[in-house]
Amino acid sequence: MATLFRPDGTANPAYLKLDLYCKGLRIDASCELGEDARDIIRNRAGLGSGLEVIIGRDMYTNIPVVEWWCSVSPYVLVKNGERYEIWLGNVGQASSLPAAEGGDKTELSRLEACPTRYTSLDRSAKNRGPFVATLDKSRARFVDTVVIPPEPLWYKQKTTSGKLMQRIGCLQGTYLGIYWGPRCQNWGPRGENEFCKFCTEGQNLGTQEEAVKSIADVVETVIAARKESKITFVHFNTGFIDSNDYWGLFADVIKAVKDATGLLVGVQAPPDADFENYRKFKELGVNNVSFCFEVMDEERFVEIGPGKARRAGLKRYLEAIDFCANKVGFDTVNGEIIAGLESTESSKRAIDWIASHGAIPTVCVFRPVFGAAYGQLDPPAVEDMLPVFSHFYETVMKHGLPIGIAPNVKVSLIMLPEECRELTAAPNAYKLTRTKLWALKTLFGAYFKATVKA
Ligand code: SF4
Repeated sequence: MATLFRPDGTANPAYLKLDLYCKGLRIDASCELGEDARDIIRNRAGLGSGLEVIIGRDMYTNIPVVEWWCSVSPYVLVKNGERYEIWLGNVGQASSLPAAEGGDKTELSRLEACPTRYTSLDRSAKNRGPFVATLDKSRARFVDTVVIPPEPLWYKQKTTSGKLMQRIGCLQGTYLGIYWGPRCQNWGPRGENEFCKFCTEGQNLGTQEEAVKSIADVVETVIAARKESKITFVHFNTGFIDSNDYWGLFADVIKAVKDATGLLVGVQAPPDADFENYRKFKELGVNNVSFCFEVMDEERFVEIGPGKARRAGLKRYLEAIDFCANKVGFDTVNGEIIAGLESTESSKRAIDWIASHGAIPTVCVFRPVFGAAYGQLDPPAVEDMLPVFSHFYETVMKHGLPIGIAPNVKVSLIMLPEECRELTAAPNAYKLTRTKLWALKTLFGAYFKATVKA
C-alpha cells in the first residue's frame, strides 16, 4: 500500500493530497494567508470549504482547515521565508509526538494512522478553525514544499450590475465553478429536511454566493477569469428544481458563455425530465455532463439523500449516465460518488459500474463540514480511502477512458484519476495507455487553441 514517504524519503504527492482531505491542516503562526492565499469560500455543497494549495508540480487541492476535526491534524502549514511548507508536527498535548527526521519513525506512523483521535473532540460549531499551531520543528518532520496560489485580482472586481465576481463564480483549482439557478429545492420551501446529509448548498447560496445572478454577470466573470487566470473550462452546477427541466434552466446562459468565449463547458445537474434534452446540450457545445449519485448502496442512497431519492432515485441517475455516455456523444460524461459514505466495496462497485458504461468516475472524499447533517461525523480514514482510489486509477486505465485530456484543468476538490497513479502498487504500468492519452491531450490542446475565442 502507498505511504506518505517514498523509499528515498521524498513525499508522495498523491498520498499527501488524499491524506490532507482525510485529516485537514493546521496553520502555524508564521503563515500570512490573509495576504498570500485565496479567500476560503464555502461552496459546491460545502466541499470547497478549505484552503487552495498546490502540492508537488501541479496537484491542486482544497485542504480542510476550518472543520472541528482539523484541530488535531498532524499536518501543519508553515511559512519559511517566502516558501510554504507542510510538516508533520506535534498534535495538541499528545505525549508521544512525531519524531524529527531520523528519529522514532514508529511513533510517526502511529500518529499518521491514529484512528481514535476524534473521540474526545468538541464537534460543535464553536470548535471552528483555522486552527493555529506553533510548530516545534525539532519534534516534527518536513513533508514537502507547497505553493499557495494567490487570489486573482478579478475576485475583487465587480460586474456591471455591481456584484463581486468571486460571488458569481470561483476557481476550484484552475477551472471556474458557477452555481446557476435557484436554491436546490431539497432545501425548501417544500423540500425541508430532504437535503443531502453531507451538503450545505442551501446555506451557502445568498451568503457565500450570489443567490441571483444574471447572464451578463456570468459572462463578465468568465471573461475576467479567462483573461487573468487563463481558465479553459467553466463548470456549471445546480440543485433540484421541481420541473427537472435543466435544459430550460441552462440553455441561455451556456449559449451566452459559449458565444462569448468558446471555452469548454460542463454541466452538473440532476437527471433531466426529458433525456432528449441532452442532445440539445450537445448541439449547444456542452463538452461534459456529470451526475452526482454519491453511493451505489441503495439503502444508503435513500438515507443520505431523501430528496434525491424521492425526486429521481438511483436508477434514474444511472440511466442518465448510460444515456449520455452511450447515446449522445459528449466529450466526456462523469458519474460522481463520495468515498467514505458507504463501504469500500460499494464504492469500488460504483467505480466499476460507471467505467463499464463508458463514463469517467469522479470520486470525492467525504468531508464532514459545518452545517451539514453529517457535519459531526468522523472524516474517513486514509487507510480506507487508499484501496478505493487505487482501484479507481486501475479501472480507468483498464477501460482506456479519456482522462486528463482537457488543457489546464486541475481540480482541487477531488483526486483526478491521473493523480492516483502513485497510490497503486505498480505506478509504471499502463505505459501504452498513458502514451495514447498524452497524444490525445496534445491533439485536443491544439484544437482548443484554434477554436477558443476569448
Ligand atoms: S441535490 Fe443534494 S447535494 Fe445537490 S444541492 Fe441538493 S441537497 Fe445538495
